[in-house]
Amino acid sequence: MSQIYRGRIAPTPTGHLHLGHARTFWIAMERAREAGGQLLYRNEDIDRQRCKAKYAEAAMEDLRWFGCQWEEGPDMSGPCAPYNQSQRTDFFLQAWRQLKDSGHIYPCDKTRKDVAQATLAPHEAEAMDEPLYPETWRPPVGAGQDAEEPGATNWRFRVPTAREIVFDDGRLGPCAFTAMQDFGDFLIWRKDGAPAYELAVVVDDHAMQISEVVRGEDLLISTARQILLYQALGYPPPQFYHTPLLCDPDGQRLAKRHRSLSLRELREEGHTPEQLRQNEDWWSGLED
Ligand code: GLU
Repeated sequence: MSQIYRGRIAPTPTGHLHLGHARTFWIAMERAREAGGQLLYRNEDIDRQRCKAKYAEAAMEDLRWFGCQWEEGPDMSGPCAPYNQSQRTDFFLQAWRQLKDSGHIYPCDKTRKDVAQATLAPHEAEAMDEPLYPETWRPPVGAGQDAEEPGATNWRFRVPTAREIVFDDGRLGPCAFTAMQDFGDFLIWRKDGAPAYELAVVVDDHAMQISEVVRGEDLLISTARQILLYQALGYPPPQFYHTPLLCDPDGQRLAKRHRSLSLRELREEGHTPEQLRQNEDWWSGLED
């Protein structure tokens, strides 16, 4: 791990960025600046079906307009290039192999629907960010270990039952989650040939020597999953800082589908980045 603060902004180009993204990335930039550190931009375009080059271009343009600046990225290269995840498959395959050889993962042919149907009562399932994969469905340790390639199947990480994952968040303080209660065995490789988010992000944050991950609070459980991956891969975990989420007037989280709050549209409507940043709660007053 490098001594210097290294942060990152890591958008997924599946749509136009909204104000919530911009705020998280702005906070990431401010934390890097305050620490006298570096900030890199990583384009998380591993999902070939959902990610589009036009959104990747738009994200960089919109964030530059908003005032974000980075020292390394797909547009300027740098020591950890390439900065597009779609070009980093070799790194992910190497990690897949390491996890397979050490018995941490197994091939899985269950669909999301199978898992959803097998789980808890609907109200319990709703409270979780993903239905809990039943422990009884796990194959014995060693399953899949002779595979040479991930192939056209999903691979899951075998979480250590009842293991408590504790970390000290830079904003929220101590956070604790329990494996097999708060989340179950999770996907690390997808049958369409791409690594899953949890694996790709850990491999890249490690390879790019990120010292602090700044991300939205909606990813707290993902952080807990990722800490298990850091441990399994023998990487030292970075620090974490989870930002609060922006909500719309109905208390709903902003998502990319809220087009009226996309940076692009706000810009087209004549708002300036300064106005948006000065706005007390970042968006109120934007609607008549
Ligand atoms: N690419 C992820 C997203 O846009 C963020 C990943 C992260 O911060 O780990 O939601």
